[in-house]
Amino acid sequence: MQVVTTIAALRAARAAMPEPVGVVPTMGFLHEGHLALVRRARQENASVIVTIFVNPTQFGPTEDFAAYPRDLARDLALLEQVGADLVFAPEVAEIYPPGFQTYVTVEQVAQPLEGARRPGHFRGVATVVAKLFNLTQPQRAYFGQKDAQQVRVIQQMTADLNFPLEIVVCPTVREPDGLAMSSRNTYLTPEQRQAAPVLYRSLQAVEAAYRSGERDAGRLRQIALDVLAAEPLAQVEYVSVADAATLQELEQVMAPALVSMAVRIGRARLIDNILLT
Ligand code: AMP
Repeated sequence: MQVVTTIAALRAARAAMPEPVGVVPTMGFLHEGHLALVRRARQENASVIVTIFVNPTQFGPTEDFAAYPRDLARDLALLEQVGADLVFAPEVAEIYPPGFQTYVTVEQVAQPLEGARRPGHFRGVATVVAKLFNLTQPQRAYFGQKDAQQVRVIQQMTADLNFPLEIVVCPTVREPDGLAMSSRNTYLTPEQRQAAPVLYRSLQAVEAAYRSGERDAGRLRQIALDVLAAEPLAQVEYVSVADAATLQELEQVMAPALVSMAVRIGRARLIDNILLT
């Protein structure tokens, strides 16, 4: 496994790679959710590139960019084990040199949900992913359903800007108690960690009601809110039942719908979602 930190070294290594190439963009502090994407990329491509970059432009001024957990040595050991070929782990100045001034803005699908609560977040995501696509020239790129709106934003950008690659979406990997794996779970104290599975429990309650025939989106949202309200450590930011393609809120659920939420537990802001099909 080769590790590079400069664009020049990345381009040279990429040019020598057997195709097709799969890329897995990450912010590092890797867990089984990330590794599932790398394993899938390994199965489907001749070469696998993993990028590790905590992207400052996708963090708001009051968000956790500085505190975001980092452990490159551990990440590299894990990536070696799952068979990545090339790791690109640049410094911020390599990606955003002085004078940088070009950004990618995806419009409608980036506006609700996370986009409304994290102004500029998806502009940062789309910009860095566009740059990583240009730099790694992959045939396939792997993303997790855990970040459902991010997937929609990147699908839209890929179509609109004619990137010649396939976006592969992989299922959310969960802890045994249902908590979606996330690098930010490390912010949870033991007591908060015990409370955190309430997100998935509330999503499962919505799914059960949907399976029993409930199609009123307001009642489905309320079912999730009721489960979350029973956990005193959980502070709800939003619960959404939206059209899975447009991400616009629904009144009546016509599948496929995306049920998504953001909930603060302590200093962790947790997101999770399920699709109703
Ligand atoms: P991040 O490092 O948080 O930016 O995530 C990098 C990629 O891993 C994104 O495509 C995420 O959606 C994906 N990912 C993060 N957590 C999970 C998870 N629990 N299950 C599946 N994919 C995940």
